[in-house]
Amino acid sequence: MAKVMIVGAGGVGNVVARKCAAQPEFSEILLASRTVAKCDQIARGVGSPKLRTAALDADNPANTVALLRDFQPDILINVALPYQDLALMEACLEAGVHYLDTANYEPPEVAKFEYSWQWAYQERFQQAGLTAILGCGFDPGVTGVFTAYALKHHFDEIHYLDIVDCNAGNHGQSFATNFNPEINIREITQKGRYYEDGAWREIPPLSVHRPIPYPEIGERESYLLYHEELESLAKNIPGLKRARFWMTFSEAYITHLRVLEAVGMTRIDPVEYQGQKIVPLQFLKAVLPEPASLAENYSGQTSIGCHIQGLKDGQPKKYYIYNNCDHSACYQEVGAQAISYTTGVPAVVGALMVVRGLWQAPGVFNVEEKDPDPFLELLGPLGLPWVEVVDQPSPFDPIEEG
Ligand code: NDP
Repeated sequence: MAKVMIVGAGGVGNVVARKCAAQPEFSEILLASRTVAKCDQIARGVGSPKLRTAALDADNPANTVALLRDFQPDILINVALPYQDLALMEACLEAGVHYLDTANYEPPEVAKFEYSWQWAYQERFQQAGLTAILGCGFDPGVTGVFTAYALKHHFDEIHYLDIVDCNAGNHGQSFATNFNPEINIREITQKGRYYEDGAWREIPPLSVHRPIPYPEIGERESYLLYHEELESLAKNIPGLKRARFWMTFSEAYITHLRVLEAVGMTRIDPVEYQGQKIVPLQFLKAVLPEPASLAENYSGQTSIGCHIQGLKDGQPKKYYIYNNCDHSACYQEVGAQAISYTTGVPAVVGALMVVRGLWQAPGVFNVEEKDPDPFLELLGPLGLPWVEVVDQPSPFDPIEEG
């Protein structure tokens, strides 16, 4: 039996709370977030005596330490915003609690996300005998586990990795983001970046795109983006020659985004407005729909997976592993859309891996450094079944290799 504290009561927090409540292994759950009313609303929906709530401003580690000391959980699942990552890691170190998150740290004042800040905690977690699991949502998260699984069972060397992320859902709104708008827009307005031959190559934002076929969905225009798991996979997967990340956007989405950018609404520096300083992107977040509110009318599927090519027994091999997830099925099960669901379920699976001792070791880890087998064994039963396709034509043909 284990106790879990969840920080963040947004779309993902709702899924994590519901799925944790359904696990007999979690005897007590504390859901804490800045706006306690959102925790209480989720708790009413879950309706489990195991779940209680608390108000928490996680920017100050002392607040979190006080809650952790009082509740004494085995693990903290961070599904607040990337801005809180370091403060929550500090708090876990001080209170002696394992840590897991789904997105890497990003300083509020610069739109830049990278693992360096969190990897710098390696020694302190080792010395404290605590485990920190970074990026355990779907992407990052399952995409790293898929890659580790491919390397363990299908390849001697992985050379080419293309992570493909399609949301073919329709929420009926002209423009909305599927997770926190501020974080999402900061991510996709950055320069594109991919890894090739030991170096990082940069391209202007959203400048490279192509149609890619997705199972049960068909072809969708997909844009080359920088995504955080590329950084850790380039470090942790030996022999990788190229790693890229592709995400689908509709033409309407791209047009809205270009207009918002052109008029300055995606700026993250403060501007003076009627004697007050406001950050345009934060104001934009306030007027856009809450991602969780999209769930009720969302239809269609997401499809996220990894196209991999490399060598097995000296022969070229192709492999594709993916999950498709249906928005309205998620809503029926947990009152969430598929983006929140595909993030929240892997976070719960990762937390179970840690409390069961299967992924527990002192230090800071990305998911691909851990054994993928027990994680993938549990992922399907918890709601995200996955499919493997071996040596079939790939959208990334022909690549090599003589
Ligand atoms: P939401 O914006 O819906 O929820 C974020 C929650 O964090 C809100 O409840 C918010 O509180 C709370 N919060 C913000 N600041 C603080 C603070 N200082 N202290 C305590 N709580 C705080 O986001 P999502 O649920 O959509 O996303 C959650 C996380 O999941 C994000 O980090 C996102 O980047 C990540 N993610 C990861 C994905 C993956 O596949 N790896 C995919 C999608 C998302 P309040 O309600 O008061 O604002």
